[in-house]
Amino acid sequence: MKIEAVNGTAKPLSPAAETNPSKQNFQIPTKQEEQEEEEARGARITDKVVKKTSRKREVDEKEEINETQANGRAPQSSKRKKPTRIDEVEAEVSEPSAKRTKRKQIEVNKEEEADSEASPAKRMRKTKVEEEEGKLEENGEAIKKITRKRKTKEEKEAEAMPIAARSNGLRMFIGAHVSCAKGVHNTVTNCVHIGGNAFAMFLKSQRKWENPPLQNEHKDLFISNCNDHKYDASSHVLPHGSYLVNLAQEDPEKATQAYDAFLDDLQRCEALGIKLYNFHPGSTGSHPRPSAIARIAKALNRAHLATKTVTPVLETMAAGGNVIGSTFEDLRDIIALIDDKKRIGVCLDTCHVFAAGYDLRSPTAFKKTLDDFDKIVGMKYLRALHLNDSKAPFDSHRDLHQNIGLGFLGLRAFHNVMNETRFEGLPLVLETPIDHKDPATGKDVEDKGVWAREIKMLEGLIGTDADSEDFKALEKDLADKGAEERKKLQEQYDKKVEKDRKALEKGQTRLSFGKQKKKNGESGQASDSEA
Ligand SMILES: [Zn+2]
Ligand SMILES: [Zn+2]
Repeated sequence: MKIEAVNGTAKPLSPAAETNPSKQNFQIPTKQEEQEEEEARGARITDKVVKKTSRKREVDEKEEINETQANGRAPQSSKRKKPTRIDEVEAEVSEPSAKRTKRKQIEVNKEEEADSEASPAKRMRKTKVEEEEGKLEENGEAIKKITRKRKTKEEKEAEAMPIAARSNGLRMFIGAHVSCAKGVHNTVTNCVHIGGNAFAMFLKSQRKWENPPLQNEHKDLFISNCNDHKYDASSHVLPHGSYLVNLAQEDPEKATQAYDAFLDDLQRCEALGIKLYNFHPGSTGSHPRPSAIARIAKALNRAHLATKTVTPVLETMAAGGNVIGSTFEDLRDIIALIDDKKRIGVCLDTCHVFAAGYDLRSPTAFKKTLDDFDKIVGMKYLRALHLNDSKAPFDSHRDLHQNIGLGFLGLRAFHNVMNETRFEGLPLVLETPIDHKDPATGKDVEDKGVWAREIKMLEGLIGTDADSEDFKALEKDLADKGAEERKKLQEQYDKKVEKDRKALEKGQTRLSFGKQKKKNGESGQASDSEA
């Protein structure tokens, strides 16, 4: 099948590639090509033909077409297959033909994604920009508002098109934390855009206490979008709670504020048909841990009575100190105090648990961590996973998300994850960084193709042999990409370890990181990336 970009937007896939992830034979643009396309769009050259490079695998079209026609869905291969090679991973993502793209998707206003409800990784930077803008206004100085170029209809249409086809028939439901800007209904099309089969989002601004109520129109659109695109909102949508909410809050007034915001989120879930709701358990605020845990459980019991169907899901945390949830024992202790144990769950964040001292890298370590989880918490409570590599070393208690395979976890850990049968059917949500510097402007820009490629790569790990040459090559390529960053973070970590060692020698008991840190003050949910 000869593939050429027709107008810089639509790139036909081979029919099989649309449905069969196990084939890994996508005819797809490279990152460079995608950038070229962006430039072409910017210049409004909509009829520019972007030639495909020669970095393509041979496609046995006939075989694929036959297979697709035979079953319409790609079977999840149980036999060992080859993992995606790195050059293919880079070029993994494609845009299906225009006819597959429903008219509705065109209405997704990507322009708004640059606004508030972006990915967790981007959140903090944006807050800063907005705060700076706010200050300028207060001072009454001349304000140069950040104006965004209005996009042309063609640009909007191009951006609304999926950049990767969704895989069908998998037992692993992988997606990402997508934007809910301009209404929660947009999350569905944002997930379609990256080829995800599960997604997370914020239900309202995660930085504000006061939010307008969920609009009926948005609610109806969310439900119809889920139906149209065949997402099971009750199983594969995992909203993320506000970072402001701390259910362990001791101060009565603040505790009421936190509970009200939490309950409001749960009620939004129920209105939308969502049954899982992920949140950070909370912070002791330097009060005794057992009483803080009791406050969390009390709030959850109260919230259970005020709702009917939604299950709050406790996220595992990376930081130590006041933060609750960086040990399995914390989660166990909360669950022990819950009256309705059918409506409480846990979300295992791969980066967080690794940074908290639970290894996932080798099959043996992975098994031990899961065994520990089962023994201490109980596997039946596992309701979701966040898939993130870690920029920071093992047991460093730093919450720094990295792209899959580039961090200290490495691809082998994710091979373990993708082949763990107990994770089948759960929402598996990427919270990996997608920002990169635009070489032309020097500004940070989002590249959602990162998620699209990571989803395809992870799906490609299912049923593959981790001892194969292909897997090793892919693992090494990704590890090489992240080597510099790992070296930097390792040095930072080593310095802290050394500093703490010296402090201990001097008789100080407070460490600057880890489970014994932050004995004073409200560290809240503070962490590096907080997702
Ligand atoms: Zn997370
Ligand atoms: Zn989180």
